[in-house]
Amino acid sequence: MKGSIAQKITLTIVAVAVGGIVLAGLMANVAWEWNFRRYLSSVEVEQNQKILEALVELYSEEDAWSDVRHQVMQMGMTSGTQIRLYDQGGVLVIDSLPRMMMGRHGRRWQLAQEQRGLVQTYALEVADKKVGTVEITRLGQWGLWSPEALVFRRGVLLTAAGTGLVTVVVAIFAGSALARRMTVRLERLTRAAEKLGQGEVHADMAVEGDDELALLGLTMDRLAGRLSEQDRLRKKLTSDISHELRTPLATIQSYLEAFRDGVLPMDGRNLAAVLEESDRLARLVDDLQELSGAEPTGKRVELQAIELNGFLTREAALARPLFAQKGIELAFALGEVPVVVAADEAMLLKVLRNLLSNAHKYTAEGGKVELLTFATGEEAGFLVRDNGLGMEAEHLPHIFERFYRADQSRTRGTGGSGIGLAIVQELVLSMGGRVEVESEPGRGSLFRITLEATTMKLRSAVRAAGG
Ligand code: ADP
Repeated sequence: MKGSIAQKITLTIVAVAVGGIVLAGLMANVAWEWNFRRYLSSVEVEQNQKILEALVELYSEEDAWSDVRHQVMQMGMTSGTQIRLYDQGGVLVIDSLPRMMMGRHGRRWQLAQEQRGLVQTYALEVADKKVGTVEITRLGQWGLWSPEALVFRRGVLLTAAGTGLVTVVVAIFAGSALARRMTVRLERLTRAAEKLGQGEVHADMAVEGDDELALLGLTMDRLAGRLSEQDRLRKKLTSDISHELRTPLATIQSYLEAFRDGVLPMDGRNLAAVLEESDRLARLVDDLQELSGAEPTGKRVELQAIELNGFLTREAALARPLFAQKGIELAFALGEVPVVVAADEAMLLKVLRNLLSNAHKYTAEGGKVELLTFATGEEAGFLVRDNGLGMEAEHLPHIFERFYRADQSRTRGTGGSGIGLAIVQELVLSMGGRVEVESEPGRGSLFRITLEATTMKLRSAVRAAGG
C-alpha cells in the first residue's frame, strides 16, 4: 500500500510520455512516407511519360520494333528502368534487360516490384492507333528512393528515438520527484491526523505549498483548533459544575453532621437552611439540564410566526403576583400594531422567563420592570428593562458565559448559578436572533432580544392554528 500513489503517478507520467513519443514517431513516419511517395510518384509519372514519348518517336521513325532494340536498351539503362515492349498480339518484342543481363532481376523480383507498385503498364499509340503495350519497371528495391534519402530517413528516425528515450528518462525523474513531494506531505498529514485521533489536539498540520494539500492541512489545523477549544470548554464546564455542586453539598453535609453530633438542634430554622441548599442543588441540576437542551448541536428549532404583544401580555402576566410580592411594578408598554417574529414558542418562553427571573432577582423593592416590543423592518423583538442593581461595564461582555456572575457575593445570596443568561443566549442564537445588554450600576439593566420579523401570511396561519 505504502508508496502506491507515488508509483501510480510515476507510472502514469511515464506511460503518457512513452505513448506520446510512440504516437508522434508513428505519425511522423507515416507523414514522411506519404509525402515523399507522392513526390516520387509524380516524378515517376513524368519520367515514364518521357520514355513513352521517346518510344512513339522511335516507332514513327522506324515503323518496326526490331530496329529500335538498341535505343530501348539504352533508354532503360539511363532511366534506371526495365522497359518491355509488347506488340498488339501481346507478344514480347523488346526487353531492355535481356535474359543474360537480368542477374537477380528474375521473375520473382518482377513480382515483388509489382507488389511494391513499381511496375506501370501503358498503351503505346501512334497517330491514334494502338501499336502495342509498354511495361516499365523501376530497378532497385526502393524505386526512386535514393540511398541518400534512405540514410536521411534513418537518421531522422534515430534522432526521434533518442529524443524519446531522453524524454522517458526525464519523465521518470520528474514524475517520481512530484510523487515524492506529494506523498511526503500526505504522510505528514496522515501522521498528524493519527495524532489528532489519539486526542493530541496540538498536532502540527501545516504543510508547505499553496495547493489542495496545503488547504487540507489548513482545514485540519482549524479542526484541531476547534477540538482543542471544545476540549478546554469541556474541562472548564466540568470544573465549574463540580465547584457549583460542592458548595451547597458541603453546607448540607455540615448541617447533617452537626445534627448527628448534637451540635445543632434539628429545629425548623436549621431544617429550612438545609432545604434551601437542597433547593439550590435541584435548581442547579435543572439549569444544567436546560442548558444542555439549549445547545445548538442537533437541536430542532420549529420556527413559527408569533405575535409578541399578545404573547408577552399572556405569558408575563402570569409572573405578576411574584413581582407584586416583592413590591415591584411589572409594566407593559406594548403598542397597538402587531409585532410578529419567527420564533420557536417553547424557546421564546424560556428566554422570557429567564429574563423576568433576573429582573425580579436584581431589582429591589419598590422598583419597576417594563416590557416593550419593537419592529424595525426586517427585525423585531422585545426589551426587558429594570431600574434595579445594574452592572459594571466590565461584566457586560461576560454575563452570557456559563457560570459567570457579575457579583459573586451579591448573587450567591439571590441563588443564581450564572447559567440563566447562557441559556438565553443559546436559545436566541439557535432561533437566528441575537441578545444585547445595556446596564449601569445603580440605575438598572436592559436586555434586548432581536429576532427575524415575519410575514402577514405566516401570522394568519398561526392565528388560525393557535389563536
Ligand atoms: P444567575 O443565575 O446568576 O442570575 P445569569 O446567567 O442569569 O445567572 O446572569 C449572570 C449574571 O448577570 C448574574 O449573576 C448577575 O450578576 C448579572 N445579571 C443578570 N441579569 C441582571 C439584571 N437584570 N440586573 C443586574 N444584573 C444582572
